[in-house]
Amino acid sequence: MTLHSNRSLLDIDRDHLIHPVTSFRAHEARGATMLQSGKGMWLTDMEGRELLDAFAGLWCVNVGYGHDSIVEVAAEQMRRLPYATGYFHFGNEPAARLAQRLVDLSPEGLDHVYFTLGGSDAVDAAIRYITHYYNAIGKPAKKQCIALDRGYHGSTSTGAGLTALANFHRNFDLPLRWQHHIPSPYPYRSDLEGDDDGIIARSVQQLKDKVAELGADNVAAFFCEPIQGSGGVIVPPVGWLKAIRATCDELGILMVADEVITAFGRTGPMFACEAEGVAPDLITVAKGLTSGYVPMGAVLMSDKVYQGIADGAAVDAVIGHGATYSGHPVSAAVGLEVLRLYTEGGILANGQRVGARFEAGLRAIADHPMVGDTRGRGLLGAIELVADKGSKERFDPALKLPDRLFAKGYENGVIFRAFGDNIIGLAPALCASDEEMDMIFARIRKTLDDLLE
Ligand code: PMP
Repeated sequence: MTLHSNRSLLDIDRDHLIHPVTSFRAHEARGATMLQSGKGMWLTDMEGRELLDAFAGLWCVNVGYGHDSIVEVAAEQMRRLPYATGYFHFGNEPAARLAQRLVDLSPEGLDHVYFTLGGSDAVDAAIRYITHYYNAIGKPAKKQCIALDRGYHGSTSTGAGLTALANFHRNFDLPLRWQHHIPSPYPYRSDLEGDDDGIIARSVQQLKDKVAELGADNVAAFFCEPIQGSGGVIVPPVGWLKAIRATCDELGILMVADEVITAFGRTGPMFACEAEGVAPDLITVAKGLTSGYVPMGAVLMSDKVYQGIADGAAVDAVIGHGATYSGHPVSAAVGLEVLRLYTEGGILANGQRVGARFEAGLRAIADHPMVGDTRGRGLLGAIELVADKGSKERFDPALKLPDRLFAKGYENGVIFRAFGDNIIGLAPALCASDEEMDMIFARIRKTLDDLLE
């Protein structure tokens, strides 16, 4: 056993704490630190440096840091009833009220809610309920699921398989044999760039072809993010989601919108699907649901799917899915308060207002010599860096630009995501002021200038 008293927290962290989804040597590459507090858009690290968080933690702290009212409802719920299991058919007040609130806020027809701990298990749960549904309505062969290249749907085996990012598949025989992918509608890297209708038509055809290849009687569902997040913030043309919805109906497969990032005002409205008048059969959410203060996710399910399971399953059949912390009363109480802050607290409205400034900031930074493309909707955006604007050639991976970008941004007091393809991901909290929004872009521009030197 080692005596820790003289060791710095960073040494302990490096030696004993495994960080999620980063290299085991990321400390060295990106410069290690610890965060000690946060308020609004700002984080303070262990050296007392103030950092403007342009990524809302990990696209989740939508209401910003340091809301006392959230702390108070959590403490009050812990005092009153810290835990209640949904097994034994016990309910609890915050979970029931949060389910009601989500049903009220979500697109038409999504009337049933299953709570999870985060986004990955929401995707898993969606797949399990879809499988129960098809079994209950006498179509047990419908098991194949289709998703998009560059999609991200979580880090459990099921979610990682549905994800189409190579580092999530490597070593694990993923995707699973019932998981399939079609190309991402990625306008900037498409030979049809500028032809939105063409991009939509091609995507629809690719989905139809994949379903034909697998056999429509075998296909359960199509999963997509309305805007792809972890794949590099890929924004499909307006109209794509609606066309996909119509195609799923035509093909007799369910549509699942993974809104883990895009829901709760991230792209403007409460749900990204709403903006396009689309009501999927299922929606997965997490992140902004509790704004990162406590873990929680959910699957929203249409009446058709719910009733299919309820009517078709034998009355005493136990649906084999559930977890100890599903509908956790403290998480649910926090979720209720976060939803109140979005609506009555005016945070959603502020996000919509400042979102226009964010979009303008993205357009303005497109003139920088390193920037090939900027894209975004609401407060979700990306800046794609290229070595050559004309040919769109990417920077040599040997330059390790993402690591350098992140470290330089940190030095300049701004935190963003730096993806492997030299894409800067941005997702500031919805509480940002105009001044803070301008500061984000000024600091990013300085970071790019510094790297050019
Ligand atoms: N789906 C999407 C679209 C996501 O962005 C994420 C997380 N980045 C997940 C699922 C998984 O969520 P979690 O990390 O909470 O398990």
